[in-house]
Formats: sequence, C-alpha cells, structure tokens
Amino acid sequence: MVALRPGQNLLLNNRLWSLWQVLPGEGRQLTIEAIGASEASFGMTRRLTAIQYGSELFIEQRRGGYWQANLERDWQQSDNGPVLVCRPANALDLLNVHTQSPALGQLTNEFSWSYSRSAKYRFCTRAYYYHYYAAWEGWRPESPPPVRTAYLLKNLTDLSRWIGAMVHDSLRFALARLRAGRPVSRDDLVGQMYRRAQADFESSQNGRYQQQPNALVGFQEHYYKVPLDKTTWQTSWQRAEQRLDTFLTSELYDRLGQYPPDSFLDVETLHSFSLAETKIWVQLDLARFDGQRIEIYAWKSGASDSVEIRRQLGVYGLYLRQTQPEWRHVPIRGMVYNLVDDRQEEVGLDPTTLEAVETEIKADIAHLRGLLVEPQANLAEINRFPMIDDRAICRGCQFRELCGR
Ligand code: SF4
Repeated sequence: MVALRPGQNLLLNNRLWSLWQVLPGEGRQLTIEAIGASEASFGMTRRLTAIQYGSELFIEQRRGGYWQANLERDWQQSDNGPVLVCRPANALDLLNVHTQSPALGQLTNEFSWSYSRSAKYRFCTRAYYYHYYAAWEGWRPESPPPVRTAYLLKNLTDLSRWIGAMVHDSLRFALARLRAGRPVSRDDLVGQMYRRAQADFESSQNGRYQQQPNALVGFQEHYYKVPLDKTTWQTSWQRAEQRLDTFLTSELYDRLGQYPPDSFLDVETLHSFSLAETKIWVQLDLARFDGQRIEIYAWKSGASDSVEIRRQLGVYGLYLRQTQPEWRHVPIRGMVYNLVDDRQEEVGLDPTTLEAVETEIKADIAHLRGLLVEPQANLAEINRFPMIDDRAICRGCQFRELCGR
C-alpha cells in the first residue's frame, strides 16, 4: 500500500506543509506531524488526524470536513520536492470511499436479502445505502466520524416504530409462553412492557444510547431535538397498550391458547435460507400447524398493501418449503392480523403464488447486486443510490443529517 513519508509535502488550502512524522494509529487512522513551509504558515507546526483507505487519504479539517487526496495520482513536483495536492471533501466523499473499500478485520459485509432490506430500498435508495453499506464498521471506535454517525442513525427508532417493536416483542413473549404451556397474565405483560418503555425513554433522553446504539433505544425525536410534549409520549404508550389488549382479548389469542403447544412451529426466530446463491433472512411472527395446514401469521398495525403482504408472507412460505421438505405437500395459508382493529385477513400462498414471489425475489437480488461497483465483494458507490426528491418524506427520515435535509 502506498504511504505518506516524512520529507514529503502537503498542500492544504494553498498552504504548504512539510511532513516530519507520520504515525500509524488504530485501524485506518494516521497521525501526521507537519511544519509550515509556505509564507502564510512558515514555521507553524500542526498535528493532523488522517484516515487512509488504500491510496485515498482523508485529513480531518479543524472546523469539520476533510482534505482528500489520492496518494498515487495527486502529486506535483515543486522546489521543495513532491507535494500532495489535497482538495476539500465532506462526509459523503469519505463514505463513498469507505463503501468501496474492503472491510477491516474478519467480519465482512456480505450481501444478503430480506423483506425489510428490499422495503428499505423501495423507501429510499440513499437510506438503503447508508443502512447496508455506509454504517458498516460504525461500531468500531476508531472508525471515521461519518461512519460512526451512519451507524448511530441506522439504529435510531421513532415513536411509531417503537410502539410496533414493543408490541411485537410482547406478543412474542406471550406466544412463547403459550407454546411452553405457561400462559402469561395480561397484567404481567403490560407491566413488563411499561418497564421497558421507561428504560427506553430514559436511555434515549439521557443520550446513553449513543455509547451502544445497537443495544439501547435512541429516538430520532431526541437526536434531532424535535419538541415532544408529555401528552405525545402518553398517547404513544396508550396506543401500545391498546394494541396489546386488542390481541390479548381477541378470538385469535383465545384460539391459540387452546391448541396443543407442539402445534406452534415458530415464534419470531431469525432464520435464513438460500435463494439465487444469496442468504435470505426471515423472521416469522408466528407459524403453526393446525393438523392439515401450516398457518403463517404477520402482525400489522395499520393499513397493509396486499402486494407487500403477499410478498412478505410468500418469503416465509418459501423458507418453510425449502427448510422443511417433509412438509412440501402441506398447504400453507398466510394470515394477517391487524392489531388496531382486531381484523384477520387470509392471504393465499399456493404453489403458483410462491413461485411468483420467488421470481420477484430473484429479480430484486439481481437488481440490488447489479447496482454494486463490485458485486462479489459487495462494494457500493454512493452515486448509484440517489436521494429522493420528496423532502416531506425526508423530514421523518433518521438519516436526514447525512443528507443535509
Ligand atoms: S433524508 Fe431523504 S434522501 Fe436522505 S436518506 Fe432519508 S429519505 Fe433518503
């Protein structure tokens, strides 16, 4: 790998700096000690922090932003010897290089597919880029600030998603207990959810989540300082409690409680299977065998698009078909349960539907892989994932800081 060496020169903002020390740091970090060599900076010393990705060098500017240069291409000869000519760069320039560079260490960013990944791409291609590429390695303390920011933003939630996650987790616990033959009481469940809500709120409000973004809840409302009064939080909590109550008092829950525990096949466990040489991640809300058919459930908290539902449940159906060959001939039916109004809707998952979903997924995988600069290495270039035009959507997006929206 090309490297900076003492005796070389940097041109930053039309000022010449001569290097007298270049010290490697953690990961891709470098510390550069330089002394001013042009009239405006003569004799001044500067300690600079830099990040090197292959031949691309980013030097942190004191007031934010970077100086960027390519260590193979951006040299000029001068009376003082070779000069590296650096240009101003921003956080997105650094992310663009980050996402085109192989990961450090053992953990590589492998391409995989999931329903939520595909949905993220359809929501906004740039959000997809930040989530699945820019944020990679953002958990490492020595990663450059834009990468750590992408990772932090990726892990933020918002009130609406938080309600959904709390209710989902409570349902998973209730169903796991049903499956174990030890149903949990409504009061215990609500109490547990309430304690979690308080812990989540506190970790977000006091900023503790910033130390462990993937383990502690951080609300984008807190991060972006969106004013929220007490009533909004109370209303959110009441909404979560109402959805939990809707499920617990439903005919569905009553019926599930009467089935033998071994009729439950799966309750929200993360699984994977393979399609088009790609790992496909699935997490079924509930799957059970009623003696004749396999039922796959999805919990929803609002209007659901029938095409999306068919796709989501179809992926689950494909997973069961591939991983449980002994049930290949058992009919599968999809069920959507709406937690807002206690409504159930059946979704046909016959072999023709599953085949159509499989074709869609394969096309989606080919499209998403086709966007990459190096599909085998899963490396991405930012310009292939443009921002959307609709700024009204951006106002609710967790990544708006990176987009400057
Ligand atoms: S702020 Fe807008 S353009 Fe940027 S990632 Fe979010 S939705 Fe996409």
